[in-house]
Amino acid sequence: GDQEDLFGIEESLKELAQLADTAGLLVVGSTSQKLATPNPRTYIGSGKVAEIKNAIHALDVETVIFDDELSAGQLRNLEKAFGGDVRVCDRTALILDIFNQRAVTHEAALQVALAQMEYQLPRLTKMWSHLERQAGGRVKGMGEKQIEVDKRILRTQIGALKKELESVRKHRKQYRSRRCSVPVPVVSLVGYTNAGKSTLLNKLTGANVLAEDRLFATLDPTTRRVQTKNGKEFLLTDTVGFIQKLPTTLVAAFRATLEEISESSLLVHVVDISHPLAQQQIDAVEKVLSELDVASIPKLMVWNKVDKVGYPHQVKMETEQREDVICVSALNGDGLQEFCDAVNAKLKDSMVWVEAFVP
Ligand code: GDP
Repeated sequence: GDQEDLFGIEESLKELAQLADTAGLLVVGSTSQKLATPNPRTYIGSGKVAEIKNAIHALDVETVIFDDELSAGQLRNLEKAFGGDVRVCDRTALILDIFNQRAVTHEAALQVALAQMEYQLPRLTKMWSHLERQAGGRVKGMGEKQIEVDKRILRTQIGALKKELESVRKHRKQYRSRRCSVPVPVVSLVGYTNAGKSTLLNKLTGANVLAEDRLFATLDPTTRRVQTKNGKEFLLTDTVGFIQKLPTTLVAAFRATLEEISESSLLVHVVDISHPLAQQQIDAVEKVLSELDVASIPKLMVWNKVDKVGYPHQVKMETEQREDVICVSALNGDGLQEFCDAVNAKLKDSMVWVEAFVP
């Protein structure tokens, strides 16, 4: 693609695998192909189709995800070629799945539903031609008509959703999420997919997941309670990660899912400092944050994966030039006490006390 210089195919596929993992899928392999132009029928060439088909059988694959957006015809042809119950989808559909899982606020849920419908609209043909095939072509023409009817229904629904979104935005305060009633500070982790946000969350909370606690039962599954030595606590919440290759059609939905952070007491920006594009990622996150309604919320930057960086002293030196940077390894636990101390110091400013981290 166009972004190949900064963000090569390999990096892009790595991110795709990470996204699949976030969506709850187990990734068993990946492959790529260089073509002058994509095959209009199957996107990839016929040899590649055969190769993937073999891998599907060998590895018992249920889903094949393409890194670029596929047309309705390509999706259909690929599913037919792979056979069986193999599900074919693309990056956009996968990201929509993740957003759907992660949409906490009413507004975010609406925005994601809208993006899903807009994605479905040009792909409606798919389902009906399947049905036509099943009926042995007997309903040909009827499917055609049905597609038009369905498209009209979908367009009406899209229109209604847009109106509802407008009204929700106007009365945003009314729809503020249920977190307002939770009497403990909320610390939100923001940053790129793969930065290590969920690893950090899990490391800090251990097995301390509170499914049965009624006070917290309404919270989404990406929020955990961190208890401190003196019995104080805060809620740590993982947000939907930034994505290097975010389809432009999903930008609005992404921002909406991120909007819940405006209710946090503290924003923790987690950076994978070992990533070759770490600086660009930092800039991109800061730019989006500056465009959200979060200017008044204290922020803390965490440089994660310091265990992977060849020159930790250099990282430390650079850190001294930046305010509020904590170096950690969420993997081996380095720096987590410093992290909690820093969170404590930041929350103290907002009159909340968090004394220390209890592993
Ligand atoms: P998220 O997408 O931001 O939630 O990232 P994850 O927590 O899923 O982590 C992405 C990958 O980075 C996983 O394979 C983690 O094991 C790895 N990872 C996370 N933190 C560290 C770290 O401090 N050091 C190293 N070496 N790997 C890490």
